[in-house]
Amino acid sequence: MSVSILGSTGSIGRQTLEVCRDLNITVDAISANKNIDLAERQARLFNVKLVGIYDSICAQKLRERLSDTDIEVIEGEKGNIEVARFAASDTVITAMSGMIGLLPTVAAIEAGKRIGLANKETLVCAGHIIMPLAKRYGAQIIPVDSEHSAIFQCLNGADGNKIRKILLTASGGPFYGMTAEKLKTVTKSDALRHPNWSMGAKITVDSATLMNKGLEVIEAKWLFGVETEDIEVLIHRESIVHSAVEFEDNSVIAQLGVPRMYLPIKYALTYPVRVHSGGHELSLFGKKLTFEKPDRKTFRCLDLAIASSEAGGLCPAVMNAANECAVSLFLQDRIGFADIADIVENTLNAVSASGDGLDAVIAADAAARDYVNKNAKE
Ligand code: MG
Repeated sequence: MSVSILGSTGSIGRQTLEVCRDLNITVDAISANKNIDLAERQARLFNVKLVGIYDSICAQKLRERLSDTDIEVIEGEKGNIEVARFAASDTVITAMSGMIGLLPTVAAIEAGKRIGLANKETLVCAGHIIMPLAKRYGAQIIPVDSEHSAIFQCLNGADGNKIRKILLTASGGPFYGMTAEKLKTVTKSDALRHPNWSMGAKITVDSATLMNKGLEVIEAKWLFGVETEDIEVLIHRESIVHSAVEFEDNSVIAQLGVPRMYLPIKYALTYPVRVHSGGHELSLFGKKLTFEKPDRKTFRCLDLAIASSEAGGLCPAVMNAANECAVSLFLQDRIGFADIADIVENTLNAVSASGDGLDAVIAADAAARDYVNKNAKE
């Protein structure tokens, strides 16, 4: 087995490499944006054959640094695409965050790779293209996101039995229980302090707004072929039940484990085999499992995301782009936390996009980004 990792220097990418090291899995190709110090260490440690670096200046620097090796460095989007379809790799982990994951994921599918899907924006924006494409090329998609991995695991052995409902759990993030008034005063460092999961900055902010759960509802809809109304979001503060499936006979099958991404990443790499994992045992003694309805009025991003999916077409692509831009503005201290939902809502109202195919998705994404950036205060 050989793996390509898109986004190897991010949180999921680093943990994927940890799993590959522990299980002696070959890594042939990796890609990153700008972090060439880490990319160089990873490239040498795993003796990869190809590194994609998005930023062209950084790519040139890394090429010089690796001139004592046979490792090839390719810059820009082409780098990501070549990593995605690298001939020797049979599995591609899409660990980069954001819409930038779309075209490399398409390339991996067209090359017939098994996809370990960690980039949720791909399905959010283009699920209507990606799922039929994967079917056509016989590319298997194994979810890496902990909730979707849980649902995937709950469906093992279900033999096509109809899903009545997906119970999608959410930790509630760092601002659980806060009022809308209080949310206006929270800071970037508050938002980046997640109670249970250690993740990248973008997804951690999405987790605080509950947008992450909205994106996951859309992702689940595409992955498991259900309607958004059949997906129930439950706040589960303990992050032990990673999600569950309710069947026609009222049976609910859940997957439980400690909240470590290492575990769903490993499952995606070794599926259908389960491999020993020392140090990640779950002990249920003394634990309480609680479930509550989310506060949809205060955390508006959840329903904004779901509404965009129900509106259909390119609305989710517009919604996702508005959110990516708003989160980026928030991380630059240019807007407040509570502005994120307003920006997403205003963009959905202002930007209309239509058309078929990947080009239309990319155009909708660009139009929404344009709208947000033009309206952003300097
Ligand atoms: Mg998740």
